[in-house]
Amino acid sequence: MPRKVTVDALACEGHGRCQNNAPEVFQLDADDISRVQLDEIPDALVAKVERAIRTCPRQAITWVEG
Ligand code: SF4
Repeated sequence: MPRKVTVDALACEGHGRCQNNAPEVFQLDADDISRVQLDEIPDALVAKVERAIRTCPRQAITWVEG
């Protein structure tokens, strides 16, 4: 089943580690806040997203449950 991921814009500090780990999924906007680019994460990108979640210094990235 496709999964969704979200970024807490209030927690994000915009250093872009997630964008480096998974540029297909995360891009910094003009305000240096990470924005999710894909509504659903294909299986091929799940490992990259997991890495982005693990390495975000603000724990701002989470899977959307349900
Ligand atoms: S790694 Fe975390 S804090 Fe850094 S830009 Fe991405 S979501 Fe924001």
